[in-house]
Amino acid sequence: MAEAHPLMLYNTLTRRKEPFEPLDPANVRMYVCGPTVYDYAHIGNARPVIVFDVLFRLLRHLYGAEHVTYVRNITDVDDKINARAAEEYPDLPLNEAIAKVTTATEQQFHDDVAALGALPPTVEPRATQHINEMRRMIKALVDNGHAYVAEDHVLFDVPSMPDYGRLSNRSLEEMEAGARVEVAPYKRDPMDFVLWKPSKEGEPSWPSPCGIKTRGRPGWHIECSAMAEKHLGEMFDIHGGGIDLVFPHHENEIAQSRCAYDTPVMARYWLHNGFLQVEGEKMSKSLGNFITIHDLLQEWSGEVVRFNMLRTHYRQPIDWTRKGLEESRATLERWGEIYANCGGGVGEGWLPSVDVVDALKDDLNTPLAIAKLHELAKEAKGGAAAFAEQWAASAELLGLNANRWHGRSMSAAVLEATDPDLAHRIRRLVEARSKARKAKDFKKGDRIRDELAAMGIALNDSKDPETGDIVTTWEVLSSGAKEVAR
Ligand SMILES: [Zn+2]
Repeated sequence: MAEAHPLMLYNTLTRRKEPFEPLDPANVRMYVCGPTVYDYAHIGNARPVIVFDVLFRLLRHLYGAEHVTYVRNITDVDDKINARAAEEYPDLPLNEAIAKVTTATEQQFHDDVAALGALPPTVEPRATQHINEMRRMIKALVDNGHAYVAEDHVLFDVPSMPDYGRLSNRSLEEMEAGARVEVAPYKRDPMDFVLWKPSKEGEPSWPSPCGIKTRGRPGWHIECSAMAEKHLGEMFDIHGGGIDLVFPHHENEIAQSRCAYDTPVMARYWLHNGFLQVEGEKMSKSLGNFITIHDLLQEWSGEVVRFNMLRTHYRQPIDWTRKGLEESRATLERWGEIYANCGGGVGEGWLPSVDVVDALKDDLNTPLAIAKLHELAKEAKGGAAAFAEQWAASAELLGLNANRWHGRSMSAAVLEATDPDLAHRIRRLVEARSKARKAKDFKKGDRIRDELAAMGIALNDSKDPETGDIVTTWEVLSSGAKEVAR
């Protein structure tokens, strides 16, 4: 590894950028909080998926793919899941309904994040498959005096941990003042949080720990602590997630893990991505600006979505706008030509540019890495093969062409290079649609658009600023281009 530029990461725990030193360079370990599978993942959920995928790719590049373990969990036991299952399948027994909701949502999540070019994590543990580990951890916490049983619940005793609040930088007094007025009567301290709670009849339930007779289920925070320990050990290198998880979720994960195993830290580096807004406003269902990844992928390729996300540094808040997506698409369209010249992939032995790697090593500075990609693209367009190879390998380090490589989404130029016959048919259909629209035959135009959509092709109409004509470009969506029989 080049000693001159160590990997620097901003650590929420210490509030500064620090050189990254893994506990064991032969096994670099990272945990990122995954989805609770009850609904389509929204664009805010896509941010950690994309950001930590770039970090995963960078760590693999620096330490070797076989020396990095990335764990991202699936939360498949949660009150929100129960509520959604009861609402969607009122006639089914609750547990059957829950299985339907979680299986379908998990599949959808996997499809969505694959379309965004995210590599699958090394391990993707499910909470319901780690109940024993959670019970063991809860018992250890009760045994060593950091948790207590009350009314069939097990609660973490927050005042038993003197430096609780270090990650979020809050004092206990501050947090208690902010705690809700209504505190469950069985809590000794308003800040104490649930490790285990009793289940009602018909709800998912498991035998309870610590001699509790009623069956119950785990609290959310204990899931991550137990799964992280199982797959990464009592201490590991990096823990990531959205900034909204710092308090209370990550604070509580730390409290559980450190008190159960008597360790100085849970993870040594805590990384958090910033908030996401939509068109300058907070995303919410009530504002009607709630965007799911699934919705976005109907209109934009996964690569456009990913690129648009990476144009903003991960710690900055991001404003998700249509204008930004359009700019991202235009850039990728321009780059499609270089990509096609490289044969649509990354060849054996092609290495990313040092400038791009150095940009990423500086706390994942993706905007700078993209600026360097632009410079390389300029050289590559001049026809220099070495630059094109560096460009392709650098783009892949950002996960940008992985989509195309796996046939998931590609620009028109790449399809022209790899399947000219199909590209020709698509071009003729696009022209026929433009003609129909010019002749005000919108019905026919829409029919052709639907036909193209069925083939996995997305159209983009824009106005030529000089002539005022509508110009239509196209690209292959994440599902890939398909021949459709007429
Ligand atoms: Zn978590």
